[in-house]
Parts: sequence; C-alpha cells; structure tokens
Amino acid sequence: MEKRVQLYEGKAKKVYATDDKNIYIVSYKDDATAFNGLKKGTIVGKGAINNKVSNHLMGLLEKEGIPTHVVQELNDRETAVKAVTIVPLEVIIRNIAAGSLAKRLGLEEGLKLPSTVLEFCYKRDDLGDPLVNESHIKALNLASESELLQIKAYSLKINTILGAYLLPLGIELVDFKLEFGKTADGTIILADEISPDTCRFWDTSTHEKLDKDRFRRDLGKVEDAYNEILSRLMGGA
Ligand code: UDP
Repeated sequence: MEKRVQLYEGKAKKVYATDDKNIYIVSYKDDATAFNGLKKGTIVGKGAINNKVSNHLMGLLEKEGIPTHVVQELNDRETAVKAVTIVPLEVIIRNIAAGSLAKRLGLEEGLKLPSTVLEFCYKRDDLGDPLVNESHIKALNLASESELLQIKAYSLKINTILGAYLLPLGIELVDFKLEFGKTADGTIILADEISPDTCRFWDTSTHEKLDKDRFRRDLGKVEDAYNEILSRLMGGA
C-alpha cells in the first residue's frame, strides 16, 4: 500500500490517505499537548511507544470481539488503519476518580468509584470538548440512537477486558478515553488510540502515575513512565 496525501494533522498523530480508499495510515508523533493545547512539549520516543501500545491493546480487544480500525503495524510509528469517519464524541470511562471528574464533583483523586462512570464529550477543540449527555447527542445529531447503544456497549466491554488484562501486570486502569469511527458501510469500530496519552495508568502497589499526567503536572520521568507501560505490556517488566 502506498502513502498519499496528508489528510489531517492532530496534536499527537498525522493521518494519510493511501492508494486504497478504505485504508489510511496513521503516524504517531512525539509531540505532547495538554489543557486543550495550552501546554506543549515533546516526549522523546512517545510516538513509537504509543503506536506499539495501542496496536497491542487493540489486538487484544479484537480477539475478544471488539472491532477496531487496526489493519497492520507498518513500522516504528506508522500503522495502516481502516478509513473511518470519526463520530465526534470522546467516550470517557472511569473506575477511579481523577482529573476533571475529581475537580467537577469535589471527589478526592484516587477514590474507587462504586460503579463505572461513562461520560461523553463533544469533540470540538474550539469549545474545549464540552461534556454532553445523551439528549445533547440526539439533539445535535452526533450519533443515532442505535450507534450510541453500540458505542456504550463496546466501551463498557473494553473497560472489562482492559481492566482484567492490566491488573496482573500491576497496572490499575483509572480512566481512559475512546473514539469510535464509522466505515463506509456504516459499521461502528473502535478508532483513534489507547495509550498512556489517553488512559490513566497507576502502578497497583505504589499508585505511581504511569501516563500523561506526568507531563500535564510536571512530575518528571515522563519518558520512563511510557517505557514502563510498554515493557509491562510486552512482558519485560
Ligand atoms: N482524555 C484524553 N483526551 C482528552 C481528554 C481526556 O485522552 O481530550 C483522557 C485522559 O487521559 C484521561 C481520561 O480521558 O485518561 C479522563 O480525562 P479527564 O476528563 O479527567 O480530563 P483531564 O484531567 O485529562 O483534563
């Protein structure tokens, strides 16, 4: 497959068309941003790590019956994916209170939530990705009722699969963000990435943060944390 024009450049990835209209190539960057682009930096090696971590986790999900966009890892930072139209929603799943939830609801970070919390944000950088509920999604026609049902079911199943996979590796899945896409025939599949950029991962015993919060909050050892996640997933912990 041949790489063609760049279709899009986001904060952490570029997307290219290919000679096959059903296939795109994503290229993961080392650039990091936080607080809706206000904080910018570089995490050396992040692109290659997130490419591997995301493909590894999506491979696991595929085996468990979740359709994903991954077609084939091409090299260190590039992967061929199914071409989709992204549903303009960020699905956030939370097991432990942290980040914006802790702040919004006055909860102590680290509080284990008695039941899973599922939130939607409208993907609109110019508005700062506002929190929306299902009636907003319906009124703004961001997804159909059946698409939303599918997205919620997949998201909760993904939480169960990933949580159970990560726990024996000493990683607590605190919260994470998912994005879904629609293929040309209207099928909903998991798209975007699952990586330390989009998940909160805490060490189970020390509660050390092994994710992008190290960058957001200037905690240091950012690269070490990304490498630690990769090595635990690949069995080298
Ligand atoms: N998240 C993300 N992209 C976003 C917003 C959030 O990947 O644009 C992830 C984030 O890494 C965390 C989860 O979603 O794992 C919940 O994030 P939160 O709402 O707490 O926002 P934050 O504190 O990151 O601003």
